[in-house]
Amino acid sequence: MSGEVIERALDAAMGGGASYADVRTSEKRIESLSVKDGTLQGAESDLTAGFGVRVLVDGRWGFAASANSDPSDAEQAALRAVAIARASAIGGGSPVILDDTPPERGTYQTPFVEDPFAVSLDDKLRLLFDVDAEMGRVAGLTTRHATYGAVSEHKVFASSAGAHLEQDLVECGAGFTVTAVNDDEAQERTYPALGGQMVTGGFEAVRALDLVVHAQEISEQAVALLEAPQCPSGEMTVIIDSSQMALQVHESCGHPIELDRVLGMEASFAGTSFLTTDNLGVLQYGSSVVNIDADATAPGGLGTFGWDDEGVPAQNVPIVSAGRFVGYLTSRETAPIVGRQSMGSSRAGSWRQIPLIRMTNVNLRPGSAGSLEDLIADTDDGILLATNRSWSIDDRRLNFQFGTQIGWLIKDGRRAGMVRNPTYTGITPRFWGSCDAICGPSEWTLWGVPNCGKGEPMQTAHVGHGAAPARFRNVQVGVGRWG
Ligand SMILES: [Zn+2]
Repeated sequence: MSGEVIERALDAAMGGGASYADVRTSEKRIESLSVKDGTLQGAESDLTAGFGVRVLVDGRWGFAASANSDPSDAEQAALRAVAIARASAIGGGSPVILDDTPPERGTYQTPFVEDPFAVSLDDKLRLLFDVDAEMGRVAGLTTRHATYGAVSEHKVFASSAGAHLEQDLVECGAGFTVTAVNDDEAQERTYPALGGQMVTGGFEAVRALDLVVHAQEISEQAVALLEAPQCPSGEMTVIIDSSQMALQVHESCGHPIELDRVLGMEASFAGTSFLTTDNLGVLQYGSSVVNIDADATAPGGLGTFGWDDEGVPAQNVPIVSAGRFVGYLTSRETAPIVGRQSMGSSRAGSWRQIPLIRMTNVNLRPGSAGSLEDLIADTDDGILLATNRSWSIDDRRLNFQFGTQIGWLIKDGRRAGMVRNPTYTGITPRFWGSCDAICGPSEWTLWGVPNCGKGEPMQTAHVGHGAAPARFRNVQVGVGRWG
């Protein structure tokens, strides 16, 4: 994508009457591999390239995109965006006012050791087949599935205000899932969780997952779950593992702090939020041990970058501080409405989509409860819940129910046996208010969530959540039935 495309698009937009314009170009390469039950199920490689032009005319947005990289297409797209902005004025509403983020110039590159696209296909497939063979040693599995994926994107952002930013982002990840089925139900186990673990970084991150080492134990758990007792129900102490905590943060904190939802600008996919602006700086969201940050600078996070898609630099901002709700995810358009500058969380799913407020890495900070084993030893009676299986949350993000793949009862500070089909429910601030311990940095993992959906038409974002296992008191635990 040439610099001429950017120049011509900006010139045409401003010449057409825009007060502001920005252009994003993107070339994205995606690879995905999948081995199922000992055979290669899929090997896909995809390349997508194009640009999008966003303009403000009389305080209204217009946007147009094109997959063609001819400079005359750039002009046409820019003029189309201007025409759309003029047409939007008919809709009424208050005009868009952007914050005064200064335009920056610079480059950013995801740090990595081993370029995932330079690793041979043979090596990547051998890894998946090795994992499959290891799972295959366990009797009683119905299906086994190992997956790998990588993304590299070169993108350029430039604005009429003088911003010019080039970024090269690299992501990769892998994981496996096994299923065991009997006449009554199906049980599934996933490693490392969330359909695999994905990070920004190189192939060294995939090697570090040690998938082969864990394949047998995780597979045995799926088979054992079929015979395990049902999870008991009642109010009890729960310890939630770090990957389920990642989903808990995602659904009950990450989404309700998106300021466009809060302001009613975006209500798709369980939109709107209980965290209305009158709660900012006031609401006790959780107990005093709960600290949550939105950190686009965290090494390895799927929500880690140099600048967002409005040219705002990556930042680490507090969201919940000692339990109090203190911050939103914002964009240049929404931040001034709460008297702030954008903290840089406006991102588009692709070059053909307009940026929306998306999570960066919304991280639960580690606490002082030591290791998971320390926390279990400190718990007389309770249940340890691990690996997400299902979730449901109301549209204000207040009432939720989660199911996990596996649970272990805790008696007198020890694991007292596996249980199947665990679920728990809660009301967001009450649940977080019952958090009395969070494990320390050694148990903290920055998880990747590559499938966060939002908007209409839907955009898929890659976001991150760091978390350590945490303990909650008086949680309603129930019995769900899945499969
Ligand atoms: Zn989501």
